[in-house]
Amino acid sequence: MTSAIRTTALGKRYGRQWALRDCSLQVPAGKITALVGPNGAGKTTLLKLAMGLLAPSAGEIEVLGQSPQREPALVLARVGYVAQERPLYPRFTVSDILRMGRELNSRWDGAGARERLVKRDIPLDRQVRRLSGGEQAQLSLALALGKRPDLLLLDEPASSLDPLARRALLTELVDAVAADGITVLLSSHLIADVERVCEHLVILSRGRVQLAGDIDTLREEHQMIVGPRIDPAAAAADPAVVSAHHAERESALLVRCPGKVPPDGWRTEPLSLEDLVLAYLENPAAGSPAPVAAAEVGS
Ligand code: ATP
Repeated sequence: MTSAIRTTALGKRYGRQWALRDCSLQVPAGKITALVGPNGAGKTTLLKLAMGLLAPSAGEIEVLGQSPQREPALVLARVGYVAQERPLYPRFTVSDILRMGRELNSRWDGAGARERLVKRDIPLDRQVRRLSGGEQAQLSLALALGKRPDLLLLDEPASSLDPLARRALLTELVDAVAADGITVLLSSHLIADVERVCEHLVILSRGRVQLAGDIDTLREEHQMIVGPRIDPAAAAADPAVVSAHHAERESALLVRCPGKVPPDGWRTEPLSLEDLVLAYLENPAAGSPAPVAAAEVGS
């Protein structure tokens, strides 16, 4: 796998608190990767480290084969970043922002950026401070895509977009990956969006990588099995069990044990990506870099 981002034991500390710790992961090139995790998990911190806006407190990060700290100009020229807070100059007009994009970026696609904004009915002569939150997000995206980046880092880009604009953005990302082979790392709380466009998934929890992998492979490795009620303590102690729910007579377990057939008396039930992600979010202790070779799960 060619990686657009590679981190090794990466850590970032604010004072005494680790926002990201011992984070080793790879973001595959030419794909859309979802970065998922609860509030405060370290997603924005990881994106800012990749952009070189923060320096690591421990470990290494390599972006498109370069260090964002040692070679900031090389990385910045090839990476588009849409931050959660959208720090656009409030008194600039949209046209001023586009002009700034042209001045600052050697590969600037002015026509594309302008067309994108006109299509969304965003007046080019309006000041940034007079745009709605969603319109500002559109402008940030136009700026990031106008750079013709090799890597696009998006921090919850869809959160302030209306449903149509959100769908258009997702389609645009898929098209950009297909046409230009760009890599996208997208932080999102919207699992339906992730399911729609992402091929790779990273779940961060409390500053650590809880789960990472190709989404199809992860789905194959996990099963929802339902059978006679078992002792909750036994389920909790089994490393293959990601989450367990126990009713009076039945237990439902989400297990990670590739290729294993459920024990007699147990059945498998369909598992959506949302079920899988929520099971990990519910249980921050679950997860390991490789699938656990389970003993008799559910018996
Ligand atoms: P969200 O989903 O809410 O956007 P996140 O996963 O992006 O969260 P981060 O913003 O990376 O999380 O924050 C990770 C941790 O680091 C949190 O506990 C946060 O409080 C802390 N943190 C982030 N920025 C700072 C800062 N500038 N100073 C101190 N602590 C910070």
